[in-house]
Amino acid sequence: MIQRPPKKPIKNNRQPDFDQPSIYSLSLSDLEELAIGWGEEKYRGGQIFEWLYTHRANHFGDMLNLPKSMREALAENYSMDPLETVVRQESEDGTMKFLFRLRDGYTIETVLMRHDYGNSVCVTTQVGCQIGCSFCASTLGGLKRNLEAGEIVSQVVQIQKALDETDERVSSIVIMGIGEPFENYVQMMQFIRIINHDDGLNIGARHITVSTSGIVPRIYDFADEDIQINFAVSLHAADNETRTRLMPINKAYDIDKLMDSLKYYQQQTNRRITFEYGLFGGVNDQPEHARALSELIKDLKCHVNLIPVNHVPERNYVRTSKDDIFDFLETLNECGVNATLRREQGTDIDAACGQLRAKESKQETGE
Ligand code: SAH
Repeated sequence: MIQRPPKKPIKNNRQPDFDQPSIYSLSLSDLEELAIGWGEEKYRGGQIFEWLYTHRANHFGDMLNLPKSMREALAENYSMDPLETVVRQESEDGTMKFLFRLRDGYTIETVLMRHDYGNSVCVTTQVGCQIGCSFCASTLGGLKRNLEAGEIVSQVVQIQKALDETDERVSSIVIMGIGEPFENYVQMMQFIRIINHDDGLNIGARHITVSTSGIVPRIYDFADEDIQINFAVSLHAADNETRTRLMPINKAYDIDKLMDSLKYYQQQTNRRITFEYGLFGGVNDQPEHARALSELIKDLKCHVNLIPVNHVPERNYVRTSKDDIFDFLETLNECGVNATLRREQGTDIDAACGQLRAKESKQETGE
């Protein structure tokens, strides 16, 4: 039995300072409590939830089955402003990238991917990122602030509204856009509960995936959650020296600490872990690296997703040759590791892994 370190309160910091929080930040039970607090019946909360997620209303004034006083109180205390779409780009493979402007002027990117099994949205959780991975575009301008849950929910609602035009539905979510979701943990979990709810967008836990760079204390917390979504960890190297070079977060949470937390996760959930392993030419892409990787993860129920490095102009990593990629994959398979090569989508519109960037200036148009 693996024990976890003592639980500590989770900080919910660097939130935006808006007078009116987003209505999309409230779960169904929050809305029910709100209704009760305003002296209304509990079911009014459910009606609001239905307007937001089933009817996908645009204004509180549209919520015609609510008492007028309640619609007014909502408009006074909460924001229902949709994210403003600044740019909508479509890739040759159907991938779409959206640049959204937030209420305080910052912009974020969200990607819609088309698969044969459905439509998947890759959401952003922070304006920028402070993890500092040496290959990633999202971290270049540092972290400006965390998103509130409603700003993450709104990304999905906005894209769902675009899909409504063709009667399609968002069927899965990957929390793999800009930012480190486990550094905005409280809001991220609230986002998951809202989009997962049967009476709302109803995106099943099995269709939601979160990826972390390895924030160990939050991995323990995540292991103890009552909702079990798919879990991915950006590993990228099996030895501390290489991993620290690629991901400075490894200085705070080294590979041993990370592995201990992942064993605890598996003990608690019995769920498979996905390891993301970027192939960086001449850094971590040789058969000996594949053998070290398989040795490191051999006791975990897991899967490795190989990502050939995507081009980021400010970064000078080079792509591994096709032959070396297949050698790496084959070495992993020979060692008994279940591994696949990530299908690349949206590279022509800079929408692939690690290419999303928060624009630094609040005024920037995104062009
Ligand atoms: N912060 C989280 C979520 C980002 S998910 C995390 O680190 O897991 C995006 C994935 O793309 C991560 O595995 C990240 O390490 C990877 N990535 C970032 N930049 C990349 C690049 N230039 N090429 C390929 N993969 C990259």
